[in-house]
Amino acid sequence: MNCQHCNTIIGNDQENYTLCARCELRFAGLLMQAARDITPLHDSLDATLHPGGHSPVRIQPSTPPTPIRLEVLDLIDLLDAVTTELWARLHGVDALTPQTTPTTPLSERLLDCAMHPRLASLPDSGMYMTQVQRLGQQIDRTLDPPEQRREIGPCELCGTMLTAGPDDQWVTCQVCNREQRTLTAKLHRLQLLCFDRTQTGTASQIAKTFTHSGITLKRHRVTMWAQRGKLTPTGKRDGKPTYLYSDVYRLTIAPAA
Ligand SMILES: [Zn+2]
Ligand SMILES: [Zn+2]
Repeated sequence: MNCQHCNTIIGNDQENYTLCARCELRFAGLLMQAARDITPLHDSLDATLHPGGHSPVRIQPSTPPTPIRLEVLDLIDLLDAVTTELWARLHGVDALTPQTTPTTPLSERLLDCAMHPRLASLPDSGMYMTQVQRLGQQIDRTLDPPEQRREIGPCELCGTMLTAGPDDQWVTCQVCNREQRTLTAKLHRLQLLCFDRTQTGTASQIAKTFTHSGITLKRHRVTMWAQRGKLTPTGKRDGKPTYLYSDVYRLTIAPAA
């Protein structure tokens, strides 16, 4: 039997399981995290307040939009529906029978599911785990507004583009769950740009990419290299000369050359 989530082979001593021990722990963790996020989610329903992310700092925006953020309401409803269904499955009640809907608060139901001994042995535990994982990612995006998260580079394992907030030291791939250092991913991306002889950018684009990857480079430095003839423009973009990333990289690591 293979784990429905990560495909690892589950030992014969755990015949009735559909998730491996590692994924079971992870699934429980996702449910617990969702339970913790319920209060901040409810707080961010009010659209006149700027969502302050997982921390409760709030800023009044200049133009108050609609009083309720419908996408947050939808998200809570969806989480409630999935949790109720999972809860019913774990407790062996038919999910389609309306009167079995529990009346306990959503966060309690989430925790109840997380602690349930059958969490990793439902015939479709893997499907529920995927659903909860997706909802968790949606909650993260709702609580940490997207403009604060930017693409930092491809996952080292599966190549999916990773996104991270400005203070994130570590990032978990949304597809393969590989945990990796933010800086490593950024440097990896820079490396790909620099070793591809077709990648070009304007002085400010290149300077920005380098600096975001942890290698401080000022736009002025790039234009100076160009003025001194160390760097040859390859073309123009929006009226500004473009340069090869690989050329700039060469000059950055050996400025005296
Ligand atoms: Zn697994
Ligand atoms: Zn990945």
